[in-house]
Amino acid sequence: MTFTRVTLKVCEGCGGLWFRAQELNEVYCATCSTRLRAFPAPRSRRLAGRPRKNRRITTQHAAAGREL
Ligand SMILES: [Zn+2]
Repeated sequence: MTFTRVTLKVCEGCGGLWFRAQELNEVYCATCSTRLRAFPAPRSRRLAGRPRKNRRITTQHAAAGREL
């Protein structure tokens, strides 16, 4: 007869309680782990912030300088 040791864990994804086999190092419940697997790795995510527009600030400054 074999026993599987399980620990009661709080999911770091949804905060729900779930049973984890002690030898595993999962921090998410089955629902969250499958859901998170669908997402790309955090490193491949696009950088936060607005996309930059190429404004012609340099040419505007040059024109203003000539007028003064
Ligand atoms: Zn969860």
